Amino acid sequence: MDLHLTEAQRAFQLEVRAFIDSKLPPALRRKLREGHFPNRQEIVDWHRTLNEKGWAAPHWPRRYGGADLGVVEKILLQEELYRAPAPQPLAFNVTMLGPVLLQFGTQEQLAYWMPKLANLDVWFSQGFSEPGSGSDLASLRTSALRDGDHYIVNGQKIWTTMAHWADWIFCLVRTSKEARRQDGISMLLFDLRSPGVTIRPIRSIDGNHHFNEVFFDNVRVPVANLVGQEGRGWDCTRFLLGNERTLIAKVGGCKERLGRARELLPDSGLRGGARRRVEEEIALLDAEVRALEMIQWRMVALEESNPRAATLASVLKLKGTELQQRIASLLCRIEGTQAMALHSEDGASAASTVGANYLYMRATSIYGGASEIQKELLTRGMF
Ligand SMILES: Cc1cc2nc3c(=O)[nH]c(=O)nc-3n(C[C@H](O)[C@H](O)[C@H](O)COP(=O)(O)OP(=O)(O)OC[C@H]3O[C@@H](n4cnc5c(N)ncnc54)[C@H](O)[C@@H]3O)c2cc1C
Repeated sequence: MDLHLTEAQRAFQLEVRAFIDSKLPPALRRKLREGHFPNRQEIVDWHRTLNEKGWAAPHWPRRYGGADLGVVEKILLQEELYRAPAPQPLAFNVTMLGPVLLQFGTQEQLAYWMPKLANLDVWFSQGFSEPGSGSDLASLRTSALRDGDHYIVNGQKIWTTMAHWADWIFCLVRTSKEARRQDGISMLLFDLRSPGVTIRPIRSIDGNHHFNEVFFDNVRVPVANLVGQEGRGWDCTRFLLGNERTLIAKVGGCKERLGRARELLPDSGLRGGARRRVEEEIALLDAEVRALEMIQWRMVALEESNPRAATLASVLKLKGTELQQRIASLLCRIEGTQAMALHSEDGASAASTVGANYLYMRATSIYGGASEIQKELLTRGMF
């Protein structure tokens, strides 16, 4: 099925493609194509290159550093970045916190933070999950007690992606104990270099350092860093998680990885029936990715307030992550025993990255709302 883009949308797609071709460092493109992760500096540099065009935060208003692009153009841009492949703009800044501030922030917060978020002058991390409070996020216990014009924060976060690369954190804390657990939660912004913050690495199954535990011991946070109303942080959370879920389908990323599978197949040593079975699987996955793409566009066409949009977001998250995992598994079959060599931290000594990526992909059906939770949301949306 073909997409019916307007002439202006097609022109935009070509403009993005040409921009990426002229600005993306070839070494970075190659690195991502080979399945390595970009390093911090590469992410920052590329994010800033995009920001010069207003494309780091394309859906934000121009006055805050965005390009005022519609949702179709935003998705087209995202897909072109996956296609290249190039790093996506830092989601913590532009897809998570920025829109939350636009919706719930004060004028002072908007004026101060939005340009810094758009240009990645400050790297934010997401401090939501705690030991025992992941899917059941409303049970979180990190506390923030008021002391004059400060909050005093105590507690622990876990799985905090890239906290070791981040400058600040948007953090959910409990400011009071109410009958309903969702009440009494607040969102605070604070500097990860504040006294009392400790960041400890968690090494993941692929051998890399993506995640951290973050501990807070009497961390003083100015009351001015509260987002929205005290005790109403759950509103910000629901709003943010809805945005996060739609991002995780990575339709363009699936297409790019399938392209990689086609590229690797001829040198794989797979012949005869084994080769045919892989080719059939590539074709099947390709069809499923295209079907998911149609669901993505159907969701885009719905008003945000339409309850079906939330249902489709769960489909995207559930099916998108399943496809990412199946493609990662297919790449392992293509590479055979080579895939079993896990790469070193900087990726330099890697014979192959597909084994490590396969292992990392296990995480996709957990973060941003685990698959079981999406199924629950789906059944609620259907009946
Ligand atoms: C790669 C990765 C990056 C992450 N990055 C961040 C980050 O930057 N910041 C952050 O705050 N968090 C982050 N997380 C944490 C993530 O949000 C949680 O892991 C997720 O919400 C699941 O919570 P949990 O790990 O506590 O598992 P649990 O909630 O304990 O779930 C364990 C299992 O039980 C199932 N389960 C739980 N409740 C139900 C239910 N009601 N019905 C049916 N099944 C259920 C789950 O689906 C899962 O399979 C990240 C996680 C991963 C894997």
